[in-house]
Amino acid sequence: QGMEARTSPTVEALREANARHKLHPMIDPKAALANPPLIVERADGVHVWDIDGKRYLDTVASLWNVNVGHNRPEIKKAIVEQLDRLAYYSTFQNTSNPPAIELSARLMKIFAPEKMKQVFFSSGGSDAVESALKISRQYWKLEGQAGRTKFISLQLGYHGVHIGGASVNGNPAFRAAYEPALPGCFQVNCPYPYRNPWNETDPARLARLCADDLERTIVYQGPDTVAAFIAEPVLGAGGVIVPHESFWPLVRAVCDKYGVLLISDEIVTGFGRIGAMCGARAWGVAPDIMAMAKGINSGYVPLGATLINERVASAFHKPEAPAALMHGYTYSGHALACAAANANLAIVEAEDLPGRALEVGGYLGERLQEFMRYPNVGDVRGKGLMAAIEFVVDRETKTPLAVPDPFIQKLVAAARQEGAIVRVQGNRLILSPPLVFSRADVDETVRILHAAIDAAGRT
Ligand code: PLP
Repeated sequence: QGMEARTSPTVEALREANARHKLHPMIDPKAALANPPLIVERADGVHVWDIDGKRYLDTVASLWNVNVGHNRPEIKKAIVEQLDRLAYYSTFQNTSNPPAIELSARLMKIFAPEKMKQVFFSSGGSDAVESALKISRQYWKLEGQAGRTKFISLQLGYHGVHIGGASVNGNPAFRAAYEPALPGCFQVNCPYPYRNPWNETDPARLARLCADDLERTIVYQGPDTVAAFIAEPVLGAGGVIVPHESFWPLVRAVCDKYGVLLISDEIVTGFGRIGAMCGARAWGVAPDIMAMAKGINSGYVPLGATLINERVASAFHKPEAPAALMHGYTYSGHALACAAANANLAIVEAEDLPGRALEVGGYLGERLQEFMRYPNVGDVRGKGLMAAIEFVVDRETKTPLAVPDPFIQKLVAAARQEGAIVRVQGNRLILSPPLVFSRADVDETVRILHAAIDAAGRT
């Protein structure tokens, strides 16, 4: 209903205006001109429709975030009901609103096993990371250890685009144009079994080598200068890198040994994607701080959240010292975003989406093994509903397919032709579907990917 063909502005006028006025993230504007963006006009469940009316399977949940699927009536209803009462009022200083309060309580209940104590709201993942970094520095000042200012992270880690996040990002591509970065940020080796400086293919031994690398770096920098270590439970934008199950417990132990705060960047892994309510739980670890966004309300309204545990919260509650968080966003605790999150999290729990991600993700993992039959596929990996296919020029040398490579571009175009939106990051094809994906949706994804690889013609 209400889906009549768009007449004004015309499709051509929209394309033209997009090319003329809109600056797109993460793409050279000349490339966007040469290959005009797909204009998505509507969506439902695991599908989206472009402006010409063609339907696509959304194998990436838009940007790893539309976890409960598009167009959910429960979320729309919650947003509209909230809109009728109060769209927005600031939560600075001493004003608040019911959906933000309800969401805080809900989050503390969900993350009780991690002993989370309080939450700070913002407008997205980069905000959530920036808030985590700033809160950890303030924590150390409140604890009387003002010298603890440095951050350590993983090579290939992705922590958003603000200056702190970009400085701890482990991929220089996100940093280079904006340097100088924040001083005092250091990266250690990543537990990436397919590629690492030791050529260590045993994931457990590699986890130990990387945890040792973290320890050496903390000791070398001086433990009393290190504020926090930040990492993703499964690295997303870095290429869906799944560490061995021993890695996070080893990292927790190293952080504990030197008093360093552990920040889990749960922006992709939060709320079910790798089979547990948070990625840290999937690895059996409780972090000190968690940065969350995306799946918190499946992207219906922008929202970020930074959760802190008892240890961190207690520094702000010492009766003898004032400790205001001199940090906040106009849209911290936005009522519509929080109302959407409350409805979204009710769905995540009622439909056991973490369990579903595990089950359907297991099936996806099995089906993806089929792609190892192509000589140009070097590695296939994933956990839950996060997966990657890594393309190489030569399987023996593991030389990555050059970026940009015509094969990859043809693959994306052919997948679209066949009716699926897929994402490519460097030489990897990334899958991160809505958590409501079915086995039949996995089968359709696999069918389309085979067809697209054949059509792209480099097998
Ligand atoms: N951290 C991680 C792990 C992410 O994957 C992302 C975005 O993809 C961010 C932070 C930044 O989030 P946002 O794009 O909402 O600012």
